[in-house]
Amino acid sequence: MSKEKFNAVKGMNDILPDDAALWEHLEEVLRGWLKSYGYRNMRAPILEKTGLFARGIGEFTDVVEKEMFSFIDRLNGDDLTLRTEFTAGVVRAAIESNLTYNGPQRVYSMGPVFRHERPQKGRYRQFHQLSVESLGFGGADMDAELIVMLRDLWDELDLRDVRLELNTLGQPEERAAHRVALIAYFESHNELLDEDARRRLHANPLRILDTKNPAMQEMVNNAPRLTEFLGDESKSRFEQVQRLLKDVGIDFTINPRLVRGLDYYNHTVFEWICDGDTLGSQGTICGGGRYDGLFELLGGKPTPAVGFAIGLERLILLTQDTLKQNLDANCDVYVMHQGEVAARAAFGVAVSLRQMGLSVVLHCGGSEGAGSFKSQMKKADASNASFAVIIGEDEVNAGTVNIKSLRGEGGQVTLASTEAASYLMQKIAGV
Ligand code: ATP
Ligand code: MG
Repeated sequence: MSKEKFNAVKGMNDILPDDAALWEHLEEVLRGWLKSYGYRNMRAPILEKTGLFARGIGEFTDVVEKEMFSFIDRLNGDDLTLRTEFTAGVVRAAIESNLTYNGPQRVYSMGPVFRHERPQKGRYRQFHQLSVESLGFGGADMDAELIVMLRDLWDELDLRDVRLELNTLGQPEERAAHRVALIAYFESHNELLDEDARRRLHANPLRILDTKNPAMQEMVNNAPRLTEFLGDESKSRFEQVQRLLKDVGIDFTINPRLVRGLDYYNHTVFEWICDGDTLGSQGTICGGGRYDGLFELLGGKPTPAVGFAIGLERLILLTQDTLKQNLDANCDVYVMHQGEVAARAAFGVAVSLRQMGLSVVLHCGGSEGAGSFKSQMKKADASNASFAVIIGEDEVNAGTVNIKSLRGEGGQVTLASTEAASYLMQKIAGV
């Protein structure tokens, strides 16, 4: 009787080898780029106490109200949540370990995050983020540098049609004054508010600006703007960021309704958006901003900070053609053989080639043996190797191997087996 098979959890994807090769390549590009700006990796656990996200991200946000994978630990009753983003955990860890005690830190984290959303193209329940955080930096120069850094990445990945939206959320007092005005405005349009908006009206009216409900757009567009409440310091800060961006030729539009999905932002917030068909309405590939209040909110000392997160699935969908062009071969050499004696010799040849630093796939047969050279050659081609080393009984007796080029001009040579390694090293590594 056949057993029922298991499927992956809804909204969570397997990344199979062909795609994983693109992921690894992208991750390599990202690591090189981060290093060139002085960022170091840090890794916090995937699970955190639910309260960390509730307080850090904000009770009345989509993420905390609807999207968390939370559960009670059966063994001790702890309320835990799979991380929905990196920043809250990174700041929790930074406070716990006094990470910024001796000065500011540039850090990044990369990996899966979890949100219980309706799955569609570019929107999943397990997805991956690269999250970059500049902890302890209070200046507008860092806000601008992060944006410049992202432009470099888009260039490196040959990503076109990406645009920048910018806004400022000011300081807490300015937001408080804006909030009072917003509540009064929304109350005067009570009949237009949907259920979500009514619930958030007093808890977090700013969130209402973020609504995706078409029936509310016009009313929301005419709501009082934060700009009217900004003091001189916030204004000049925002101008400074804009000036720095203009100096280096970065175009942007100011979107006063850009408030970002999480509560902890202040001053500069930004999003990079792709309008093309590839992502449809899931066009935001990167969101970020300043979160100067988060350390204190989570029980730490006042520490200014700014960062961003890139959605890697969306970035891959947009850049896969470029990534594919730059993929490395899976291996350098595929070793083929026929007959018992040759199989033994091939085993040794593979070991010695690997000792020279080459990546080598040895053809391994099934229970019926190695198969014909023809069928082995198909596997060699599929392996993407640059060369095949071919060994039959005649070669073993003569102390030789055949080396066939699988790329470029092709061709085959017969060499003494002792010379094979240096020949291949010369061809592949140029040494
Ligand atoms: P959206 O408005 O698309 O829901 P968000 O504001 O919730 O995005 P952030 O919390 O800023 O997203 O996360 C940073 C990035 O992570 C987003 O810009 C996006 O590229 C990606 N992202 C967010 N949610 C998902 C998801 N469910 N699946 C895939 N990628 C996602
Ligand atoms: Mg979201």
